[in-house]
Amino acid sequence: MQLLRSLLQLMVPGTIFSAALYLHLEVVIQPAWQSLLPLFPYLAIIAGLFLGWRFNRTRVLWVILLLIIVDRGLTQTTSFGHEYLLQIAPLLVPLNLVFYSWWAERGLFTVHGLLRLVILLTQLTGVTWLYFTHPGEVMAWLDRPLFSSSFLEQAPFSQISMLAMALSLVALLVRFYKKPEALEGSFCWVLASIVAGLWWPDCFAFWGGVAAFLLAIAIIEGSFKMAFNDELTGLPARRAMNELLLKVGRHYTFAMVDVDHFKKVNDVHGHDVGDQVLRMVATCLRRVTGGGRAYRYGGEEFAVIFPNKNLERALPHLEELRETIARAGFIIRGRKRPKNKPEKKAKGSSGKAKIQVTVSIGVATRNDINSTSEQLIKAADQALYKAKRGGRNQVRSA
Ligand code: GH3
Ligand code: MG
Ligand code: MG
Repeated sequence: MQLLRSLLQLMVPGTIFSAALYLHLEVVIQPAWQSLLPLFPYLAIIAGLFLGWRFNRTRVLWVILLLIIVDRGLTQTTSFGHEYLLQIAPLLVPLNLVFYSWWAERGLFTVHGLLRLVILLTQLTGVTWLYFTHPGEVMAWLDRPLFSSSFLEQAPFSQISMLAMALSLVALLVRFYKKPEALEGSFCWVLASIVAGLWWPDCFAFWGGVAAFLLAIAIIEGSFKMAFNDELTGLPARRAMNELLLKVGRHYTFAMVDVDHFKKVNDVHGHDVGDQVLRMVATCLRRVTGGGRAYRYGGEEFAVIFPNKNLERALPHLEELRETIARAGFIIRGRKRPKNKPEKKAKGSSGKAKIQVTVSIGVATRNDINSTSEQLIKAADQALYKAKRGGRNQVRSA
C-alpha cells in the first residue's frame, strides 16, 4: 500500500513531464505554439519562487536560481563559451540538485543559507576561472571516454556527465525512498527536465520552466497533504475525517479510541517515548479490520469510522483492535531510555523496558437519536467515558 502510494507520488510529476515532452515535440513541428512559449518559463519561475518563499521551501528557491544561472549562461556566452558550458553543466547541475535534495530545509538567511550561497559562488568562480585559463584542458578532460563503446559515443553528453546524471538519479531515488513526499518525488523529474534542457539547449528555458512548474506543483501537493495528514502518526487528520463524515451516507459506525493513562507514559518515559507509543498505536489502527478507517482525532485520541456497518458488525473488529494493541506492548530500546527509571522491566531483557499500552474505545452507530455526526461523536465520547470508568482497556457502546 505504501509502495503504491509512493509510486503514485512519482506519477504526478511524471505525467507533467510527459506532457511537457509531448509539447516540446509538438512545438518543434508546429511553430504556432512558439509565440506563446516564451511566456511559460517566466510564469513557472514566478510561481515556483513565490510558493517557495511563502511555504519556506528554500530548496526550491536554490534550484530555480541554479536554473536561471545556467539559462543566462547558455544565452549570453560566445559559441565557444556555449560549448564549454554545455560540457560542464551536465556534470555540475545534477550533482547540485542532489545536494539540494538531501540537505534539509534550513532557511535562507541562516548559516546554512550562507553556506549554500558560498558553495554556489565557489562553483561559479571555479567554472569562470577555468574558462579563462584552461578551457581546452577542461573540455578534453570532460570529453575523455571512461568506457570504449560505440553506443555511448553517439550520446549527446560526455561519459563523465552521464555517470554523474545516473548517480544523481540513484541518489534522488534513494532520497525519495527514504522520504516519500511530493517535493522529493518531483526532484527526480526535475533532473529529467534538466537533462532534456541540456539535450536540446535551444529549449533550455522551456525545460527550466517545466522544472520550476514541477516544483511549484509539488509544494502545493505537499501543503495539501500536510493539511489532511497528521505528521506524527502519518494517519489522516481530523480535517480528512470531517470530509469523510460529509459523504459517508446514512449507515456507519463511529468509534473513539483513547490511549489509557497516556499522561503517565509521558511523565515516566518522556515525551519522545510518548510520541513513539502514539506511532505504534497508529500502526495498529491503520490495520484495523472490517473496512474501518482510522484518523488521528487529536492528542492521544483516535477515531475509527466503519462505513456501511452497524454496531453489531463493527464491534468484533474493535474488540480485535483493542486486543492487538494490548498484546503488542511497547519496547523501549536501550539508546532511547529515559533518564527516569522505567516502571516495568521485561524479564531477562537488558537495556530494554516494556510498557504495557492499552486503549479504551467508545462506539456509537448512526440512528434516529444520533442522526448528525456531531451527535454521534458525542455519543461515542460518552461511551468512551463509560469504558474509562469501567476500568479501561475495554470497548463500550452508547
Ligand atoms: P485516561 O486513561 O483517562 O485517558 O488518561 P490519560 O493520561 O491518557 O489522559 P489525559 O487526557 O489526562 O492525558 C493525555 C495526555 O496526552 C496529555 C498530553 O500531554 C498527552 N499528549 C497529547 N498529545 C500528545 C503528543 O502528540 N505526544 C505526546 N508525547 N503526548 C501527547
Ligand atoms: Mg484523552
Ligand atoms: Mg487517554
